[in-house]
Formats: sequence, structure tokens, C-alpha cells
Amino acid sequence: MADTKRPTRSARIVVIGLGRFGSSLARELARGGYEVLGIDADPRRVQSLADDLSHAAVADSTDEEALRQLDIPDYDRAVVAIGSNLEASILTTSLLVDLGSPVIWAKALNQQQGRILQRIGAHHVVLPEHDMGERVAHLVTGRLLDFIQFEDDYAIAKTIAPREAGGLPLGQSRLRSKYGVTVVGIKRPGEGFTYATAETVVQPGDVLILAGRTTAVERVADLD
Ligand code: ATP
Repeated sequence: MADTKRPTRSARIVVIGLGRFGSSLARELARGGYEVLGIDADPRRVQSLADDLSHAAVADSTDEEALRQLDIPDYDRAVVAIGSNLEASILTTSLLVDLGSPVIWAKALNQQQGRILQRIGAHHVVLPEHDMGERVAHLVTGRLLDFIQFEDDYAIAKTIAPREAGGLPLGQSRLRSKYGVTVVGIKRPGEGFTYATAETVVQPGDVLILAGRTTAVERVADLD
């Protein structure tokens, strides 16, 4: 389920586990202007991020007292970015639930771990490798240049304009009436992206940003 509350820049976020996933997440949040506390049991991991984050601490996140001392329940959002260490992932998440962390995101390596984390009270579970595998599957065919799938089977994709869409203003092309996709933006070779309107005439070689149901977007991307 998506978090519908838009976080303010003043939101304080704790990232527990500074492996590849956690460290890149924590750095990105800090770059975005958020106050970020990064925690890891490994002092080298903490040291390597200390300059990039607002705060960084060496601690065992399965130790309730350590979490209390770091005021973890006061953080607006907590991310458990521990994956392979299943025991630590489960214990940390359940401690955060018990301590009353308001919004908990947890990373899982597979669906089974994801289900457990959800059951013990994580509000959001992400499966980065599983999700990235699905995303890359859409890209490897070369038809889709980029692809984002949202919940309830809705997607936005970047693709080369199919021949069928060329030469006609979008208002008259069959992309929407036949395939049910909306062209949101368009990029001509050598130019930047612009919004598409009903009058926009698509040319061969144009790059389109399409929005619509995943299967519909895939169908259009598969057209010659
Ligand atoms: P990656 O994000 O690199 O793919 P991963 O999914 O393999 O990581 P782990 O290696 O299990 O996950 O953990 C990620 C990080 O979490 C590591 O840096 C590890 O030191 C840290 N970590 C694991 N257990 C704990 C714990 N109990 N307390 C604090 N940090 C921990």
C-alpha cells in the first residue's frame, strides 16, 4: 500500500542497515534535504557514510535499549534495510513495531520474507531485487526504454513511436481509442521533452512517454 501522506522536508528518517541498498537509500534521502540517521552494527559501514548523513551510529538494531537510546521511535519514518540476515531483519522490524515507530518500511529479499515482515507489522515492504527483475524484464527486449509500474496495473513507459502513431495528430491517432494509452510527453531527436497535446503530430523516431494499463502500454511498445 502506498504512503499517501506526503513527507515534509523536515521529516526525520532512520535507515537501519547500511549495506548496498541502505547506504544508497540513506545518501539519496540526505541529498534530498532530509534529516537522516544511519545505523549499522559494522563501524566501517557507519564510518564510510558519516560525512554524508546528518547522523550516523554504530548499534545493534536487535537491541531494544540501543534503539531507545538513539530515540528511534521519535523518527517519522524508519527503514529496515537488512536483508540477508533474516533474524536481524525480523527482530529489528518487530522491535520498531513494539516501540511505536509511526511508519516502518522494510526490505525483503523474497516474497516469503516480505510476508513475514508485513505480518509482524511493517507498514510497507519492498523487494528491490524482485521488483528490479520485473522492471528489467520490460527493458531487455529493447522496446521499452524505461518503465515504471504502479500499483493496480498502471504503468508509465518511454518508448519509440510506433509507425501506426506517425503522421496524425494525437487526437486522431488510435493510441487512445484503440489501445487505451495516453501520450503524456514527446521528445524529438535533438530536442527536449514537451507535453503532448491533441494537436501534436507524432513523427517516426519520436520518443513517447505513455501512460495507461500495463498490458496496453506493453502492446503499444510492441507495435512496429
Ligand atoms: P545489501 O543492501 O548490501 O544487499 P543485504 O540485503 O545483504 O544488504 P545484510 O548484509 O544482511 O543485507 O545487511 C545489510 C547491512 O545491515 C549490513 O551492513 C549489516 O552490517 C547491517 N546489519 C545486519 N544486522 C544488523 C543489526 N542487527 N544491527 C545493525 N546493523 C545490522
